Amino acid sequence: MAIKRKIVSAPVGSNLSSNPADVQALRFVLSALGYNDPNQDFGYMDQRLKKNILSFQKDNGLRADGIVQPGGKTEKMMISNLINDDDDEEASRSPVYWCTECGGPHGGSAGDMCPDCTTKSEQEGEG
Ligand SMILES: [Zn+2]
Repeated sequence: MAIKRKIVSAPVGSNLSSNPADVQALRFVLSALGYNDPNQDFGYMDQRLKKNILSFQKDNGLRADGIVQPGGKTEKMMISNLINDDDDEEASRSPVYWCTECGGPHGGSAGDMCPDCTTKSEQEGEG
């Protein structure tokens, strides 16, 4: 299936009112890339997430503006780093899988849908 991988559906940054699901997805991805975040369920921007976005951008030669745009350079770099890490057997990060329905990142097992899409498909199935 050719589902386009994505992390955020709207821009996330320190002065933006961001979608909590996008913020959580970003925390999850940054943790998986080695930018530790103890509050992965927290759906709002805080100093830790701001610092992690800036660190990721600096480490990868991106403009450090602290903003992650859908389809932007920072998002693309995160996705490609995660995919490249999959080839590295010594990677000690927690695994990231991509939802087969919406293309978003999630934990769990390969080929699954993310929790949101799983819930949606179960609700549709009941109809
Ligand atoms: Zn999904």
